[in-house]
Amino acid sequence: MSFVVGVTGGIGSGKTAVTDRFAAYGITVVDADLAARVVVEPGSPALEAVAAHFGADILQADGSLDRAALRGIVFADPAQRKWLEQLTHPLIGEEIRRQIAASESPYTLLSSPLLLESSSQRTLANLVVVVDVPEEVQLQRAMARDNNDEAQVRRIMAAQLAREERLALADIIVDNSGSLDELDDIVAELHKEFLQRAELAEH
Ligand code: ATP
Repeated sequence: MSFVVGVTGGIGSGKTAVTDRFAAYGITVVDADLAARVVVEPGSPALEAVAAHFGADILQADGSLDRAALRGIVFADPAQRKWLEQLTHPLIGEEIRRQIAASESPYTLLSSPLLLESSSQRTLANLVVVVDVPEEVQLQRAMARDNNDEAQVRRIMAAQLAREERLALADIIVDNSGSLDELDDIVAELHKEFLQRAELAEH
């Protein structure tokens, strides 16, 4: 099993900016959000179960999941949310493990906004990297990227782990409040460190 570095951080903190830089060194990035999409692809047993439970209205004309409709239902109804999570979380965990097992790079990144909230994901990581910026920066960058209004970004931030809680659970904190050039240097150093740690873990 590959040495796994978990990467997490709040909305707009720069997880993608960080993982893109590791990917440029040839490191496999397993993305928990993408894994969550794979398990409900058209034709999957999980999507059939979702359609049977919520009705065919939850599907779009092309047979794919209407994520906005599903979000609307489960965020309004905790029991439905629980039903959905009990179906999908084990499958997402399996998909993540499958992708990690298939990775051929010297170590593997697991990028997940819910790394610290999900014990099954957390236990897959040998090390936890938290990408951190002050909340004001997080807000500005998330708003600029997605054209989201401030209230929407603040709602998402409020639903995520608080900054201090996240930092307390980090093995390594990447301060992404500087420029992208500075981030290049931080990742270059960390890549060297992770290569060494992965090598040590093999012996
Ligand atoms: P989400 O969880 O919302 O997907 P994320 O943590 O993956 O977010 P990114 O998409 O990497 O965050 O970064 C958010 C925005 O901020 C992007 O538009 C990105 O280009 C920009 N950004 C990231 N890091 C920096 C930086 N150091 N300087 C300037 N802009 C940055």
